[in-house]
Amino acid sequence: MLDDERRRVVECAPALSDLTPGRTGNLSVRSDDRFAVTPTGVPYDGFDASDVPVVRVEDGEHLAGGMAPSSEVPMHAAIYRREDVGAIVHTHSPWATTMAVRRQELPPIHYMIVAVGKRVPVAEYAPYGTDELAANVVEAMTEAESTACFIENHGLVVTAPNLDTAIEDAIHVESLSRIYLQSLAGGEPTTLSDEQLETVIERFESYGQ
Ligand SMILES: [Zn+2]
Repeated sequence: MLDDERRRVVECAPALSDLTPGRTGNLSVRSDDRFAVTPTGVPYDGFDASDVPVVRVEDGEHLAGGMAPSSEVPMHAAIYRREDVGAIVHTHSPWATTMAVRRQELPPIHYMIVAVGKRVPVAEYAPYGTDELAANVVEAMTEAESTACFIENHGLVVTAPNLDTAIEDAIHVESLSRIYLQSLAGGEPTTLSDEQLETVIERFESYGQ
């Protein structure tokens, strides 16, 4: 069941250890009405594909995989129920989490922000792993037209069509959060205009192999 997706979870999980302290991050890949997700309480390189839990989108039921799924699975399932996305990455990466505890959105201080939208909003706090938290995340992302958001006093969530993009975008948001927070030492930085961002979006659409 979901063999390719479970292999992708094993391959990509180590990327989380560069981003998030301890074992606090998690990621998932969707295939129709199910998704493969990192297991709870094990190092990111401490499991193989047969351990990777497979969970049903509809109710978060654990269908396969030798290990128990991440405690934040209800949030993943609830985002998949609301959004047609292929992968989710969640971290407590330090710079993004600093934005989250300041309850401050990330403005367009650098053109790379268009990887996720024109800004990164802040979703209202709710206890981890709850449907309420997922609703707040989806609401913030939809309102801001962004594929990333900070969660108040918690961390970062990024959605994408696939896992590679979700991880790459989580790294972009972490890096841009750091640049923004560092730049505040000299006062509030200048941001890019909507027109400047639109030009970058057009270029990105024609970029690639
Ligand atoms: Zn978390």
